[in-house]
Amino acid sequence: MPTSSTGITIYGTQIELDTKQIVEIPITTGLNGTTIKLIAHAVVGARPGPVLCIMNTIHGGEWFAMEPLRQVRNALDTSQMAGAVIIAPVVNPAAFALDVRNVPDQVDSPDLNRIFPGPLTSTGDQIVAALTEHLIRNSDALIDFHMGPKGAAFTDALTGSDFPEEVSKRSLELALAFGSPIVRHAPMISGFPGPKSSKPYAAAVLGIPGFGGEVGGAGFGPKLDAVWHRRTVDGIHGVMAAMGILAQAPDHLPTRQLVYRNAHRINPRVGGILRPELTGSEMGIEVEEGQVLGRITSPYTGEVLEELKAPANGLAYYVGREHPVYPGGWAFGLAQIDDDARWVTNEEGAV
Ligand SMILES: [Zn+2]
Repeated sequence: MPTSSTGITIYGTQIELDTKQIVEIPITTGLNGTTIKLIAHAVVGARPGPVLCIMNTIHGGEWFAMEPLRQVRNALDTSQMAGAVIIAPVVNPAAFALDVRNVPDQVDSPDLNRIFPGPLTSTGDQIVAALTEHLIRNSDALIDFHMGPKGAAFTDALTGSDFPEEVSKRSLELALAFGSPIVRHAPMISGFPGPKSSKPYAAAVLGIPGFGGEVGGAGFGPKLDAVWHRRTVDGIHGVMAAMGILAQAPDHLPTRQLVYRNAHRINPRVGGILRPELTGSEMGIEVEEGQVLGRITSPYTGEVLEELKAPANGLAYYVGREHPVYPGGWAFGLAQIDDDARWVTNEEGAV
């Protein structure tokens, strides 16, 4: 829902045009007696226009977009904006406090990105219900940031080919405007992660387009941190421009972007130490079917327990660094280049 001449209302708080303001949305009281709350940063432009909702850390260990979100919020000049951005940097404070993916309570709904619209009374359900009602429902588009969980970095944007037709088309346009070199456009309602996750719920039930953004991961060093933060900031500005909130997009699009359907997780079948053949800075490169991407060695005997090979030709959309992995832990992801994939090329002069 676009902002009006009187600004925007979040959880009963009226935020005037040309204003930045923090809104607190209390959720519940935890067993330790503290109030669990959502914090939303509203950046409301001087002129009415569409609203972009940005959420981060719905998986508590996936906090990496926090710094670029801080930079976006601080640097935006509301006098130059038509519309608003609502940024919720930590939507799962219960899991974030423990640096883990899910709420630790012994309940049916520990993973917040699988329980929309939050029908029960667990902490996670109540967070999701508040997020849906007070932030997502009142927006015109949604970006949901995730990242490589511990030890892995990602470069992709993910949206649904089975969203309602116009919503699907707009979602893909926005994902491309974000500038990700790899964009998955695949069934998300009938496929992964299903209708109870954030983007499919927003698209199918609320009619709001959106995509998941995954740029980088923790622990790859300050040079890559800076590159990935820059890409996230530019990407958000690109989406804001595509929505008309900003007048101009940065010159941030890669020369070509792969829109693909078929993804492969090349994660180990055994636990051990991941010894990668690809580095974080090589993320996004083309790999060939059969290419060894990494090996799993035993922490106990030193022997090689498993070779991780590319099952098809494609782009490596996530890459693990050397770290201990569980069976199924994050090692490599492949965006398959096949008849279901296509390249989108951008104008000469794009970086
Ligand atoms: Zn996630």
